[in-house]
Amino acid sequence: MTKNRDEIPEKYRWNLSHLFPNFEAWEKEKNELLAEKTNTCFWPELSKGKRDISSPLEIKKILDSYFRIERKTYNALIYCMLWRDEDVGDTKSKESFEQCAYIAHKLGEEAAWIRPLLLSLSEEILFDAELKEYENFLKKLLDLKPHTLTEELEALISLTSKPLTTAQQAFGMFNNADITFTPATTETGEEKELTHGSYSLYLQDSDRTLRKTAFTHLHEGFQKFENTLTELLQGHVHTHNFTARARGYKSCLEAALTPNNIPTSVYTTLIETVRENLGALHSYIALRKELLGYDSLHLYDLHVPLKEVTEKKYTYDEAVDIVLEAVSPLGATYQTDLEKGLKSDRWVDVYETKRKRSGAYSCSSYDSPPYILLNFQGTLRDVMTLAHEAGHSMHSFYSNKTQSFQDSRYPIFVAEVASTFNEELVFQLLLSRCKTEDEKAYLLSRKIDDIRSTLYRQTQFAEFELLLHTLAEQGVPLTPAHLKNEYTRLNKEYYGDALTLDPQGAVEFLRIPHFYSNFYVYQYATGISAAFALVERVTKNGEDARKQYLNFLSSGCAKYPIDLLRDAGVDMTTKQPVEILAHSFSSLCTQFSEISGHR
Ligand SMILES: [Zn+2]
Repeated sequence: MTKNRDEIPEKYRWNLSHLFPNFEAWEKEKNELLAEKTNTCFWPELSKGKRDISSPLEIKKILDSYFRIERKTYNALIYCMLWRDEDVGDTKSKESFEQCAYIAHKLGEEAAWIRPLLLSLSEEILFDAELKEYENFLKKLLDLKPHTLTEELEALISLTSKPLTTAQQAFGMFNNADITFTPATTETGEEKELTHGSYSLYLQDSDRTLRKTAFTHLHEGFQKFENTLTELLQGHVHTHNFTARARGYKSCLEAALTPNNIPTSVYTTLIETVRENLGALHSYIALRKELLGYDSLHLYDLHVPLKEVTEKKYTYDEAVDIVLEAVSPLGATYQTDLEKGLKSDRWVDVYETKRKRSGAYSCSSYDSPPYILLNFQGTLRDVMTLAHEAGHSMHSFYSNKTQSFQDSRYPIFVAEVASTFNEELVFQLLLSRCKTEDEKAYLLSRKIDDIRSTLYRQTQFAEFELLLHTLAEQGVPLTPAHLKNEYTRLNKEYYGDALTLDPQGAVEFLRIPHFYSNFYVYQYATGISAAFALVERVTKNGEDARKQYLNFLSSGCAKYPIDLLRDAGVDMTTKQPVEILAHSFSSLCTQFSEISGHR
């Protein structure tokens, strides 16, 4: 029976009063934010008007106002988001959240003229001593100048932003609302409703008939619409091509990576290095086939646990102790800060309660400690999730403490580093504590599957995504037949000979929502690679490596992501980080095979 919120002891509920002591305080802040509102605008101090805006002092005033309003807006918005997630059925918090979201939207609209104005000014003005605190922000803005158009053209491009999301929106509606599937069937012939949510559970089920029918029926569901779905995907790729060409980039990939100053070679090097290390994945697939004892191994056999054990349960307090002990390589200050956050400062909302938002996340505003939402049930996965979210939180905590507001938010390319780093530390601690071979095998198999799905699978997606864009750039029409061929080729090359491919596997690309993002998935693979390389450095190289890593956690977006990671000791423009992870995958597979396969 799911509990009510007031049945949960206070120490296991987050303390939102770090943000606002109560609703009234939030409301007061929101009203202050809108105090100057007129009939025509929300913030007269941000309006361009007839002012002369070319003196550094005048620019400073505008930027001060903009960031002050943004900072207050986000404080108010995040408070409502966290409060809403405590009970997603509550109307008051939802309405408050929507008010804040609208304010944030208006801020974007009313401040849209600032960037083009700044770009029209000389470097002499922008890098005046008066604007010192905005130097990093302005430098990044100027780096995009070669791809910024005239004011009229920028206005035209901003008008395209809504229509250009049509393909993505249509896929979203189709995928979340319209598509239905033939039920899956169990070994005993029982029909099971098939949805996106149940699909991933069925694929882990030991009932092979259930796995097979779930896989087949789900993909057949998409295959029926293969012409429409391919057209949507093609339409989406064309929008990237449009933006890239309009802004004068050489390719869609360059257009997606340049704003964060990530060389396209980081992307291609990832694919190249993973390909050089596919041997380890092929051996793992062969081992999986052997251990499951099948004549042929199929895509629907890849998620069933290789080790069936009765899972050990952890209390939340035990999980906290494990995480705190595991992060000891990061030093006493990190440990104490995290301990304070997890205990007396109450960053975490631990348990599932009625109508609480599902899943887990970490979220922070500049003026409050970070917050962590969990739905802790005591599984190993839950312990890992606590470690993961605590990693994000500490990254925000140190960056917010160290950087100015405008330099505090870390970029997506580095976002999963701190979280994966902590997960790996917990894994190493738990592995060292295993008492039986079975426990060890279970942990190893979980880790192997993590790396397989984050490094290998996401890189395969990244390769396909690049292929889609390259074909479109060359003017080759994307057709279902062509894409199915290419997708099957990739499946063969990535998984190797031990896997038997079914025709339904060829249409998997039709159902992957991430193909409607813009070169996003490769960051999962680079993120986990950077994290593993850093764990190795910090646990082996001692004090200097630790200091560099902690410095990275405090850097927010003070530099571009590749530079942030290079300062921490990992160079993402080289093959090395991906090689380290691939080798560790291979050695985990060997250990696993020794204790479980050949006894
Ligand atoms: Zn994360």
